[in-house]
Amino acid sequence: MIQIDALPAFNDNYIWLLQDNASKRCAVVDPGDAAPVQAWLQRNPEWQLSDILITHHHADHTGGVEQLKRQTGATVYGPANEKIPARDVALSDNDHLTVLGLAFVVHAVPGHTLGHIAFYHDDPRQPLLFSGDTLFAAGCGRLFEGTPEQMHHSLGRLGALPDSTLVYCAHEYTLSNLRFAVAVEPENPDVTGRFEEVTRLREQNRITLPSNLALERRTNPFLRVSIDAVKQKADERTGTDNASPAAVFAALRAWKDKF
Ligand code: ZN
Ligand code: FE
Repeated sequence: MIQIDALPAFNDNYIWLLQDNASKRCAVVDPGDAAPVQAWLQRNPEWQLSDILITHHHADHTGGVEQLKRQTGATVYGPANEKIPARDVALSDNDHLTVLGLAFVVHAVPGHTLGHIAFYHDDPRQPLLFSGDTLFAAGCGRLFEGTPEQMHHSLGRLGALPDSTLVYCAHEYTLSNLRFAVAVEPENPDVTGRFEEVTRLREQNRITLPSNLALERRTNPFLRVSIDAVKQKADERTGTDNASPAAVFAALRAWKDKF
């Protein structure tokens, strides 16, 4: 059994900490800052950091890698197509890796950055997805390097994973994402209900993650670009007929950038 906890970093990042209680080994995903991980290891001195997983090159995901690697000798996995500090294993689409006994397959998901990868643990009992800054709870990452078409395709891949897949993304953006989702689909009770629930959680300063793919398909506008009501809203915004789902996606993403 692997336990997964969030180590908060900076304003709104989460460093995911995977713990294998049997071996007392642990792994982290996207340690943008070494300090929260070091503090946890200090509080839990019997534990060994064995693996570091990186989704993309941005500093808020990689800033702690070199220090943690130096201190612990952990193996660093990261995307082959990006410059990742201290990377030991360069990963490309469909590559397989095993971390703490969990088998992961790599999904290349360009858009936020061109080399961005996601880590998927394909276990029918409990599938897990570490989606970095690609699929957020009720949202998606900004397009810093890729095109809307690339991101739409990437989200299509992640959006096709099983309903029960737990989604561990790298930021606490859920509330602001849902504010936008309500603007896109004011009549969708799943969206308004989730907005109210997440509002309550954030009022108590509680985490809104992990999400799951069934919930994302019901409430994340960027996974709902084929829904009539979503296309209609996109068309209203652009004053044009967004004839393809990719065009609807592009219109939503551009709208969200200024929302
Ligand atoms: Zn990023
Ligand atoms: Fe980020």
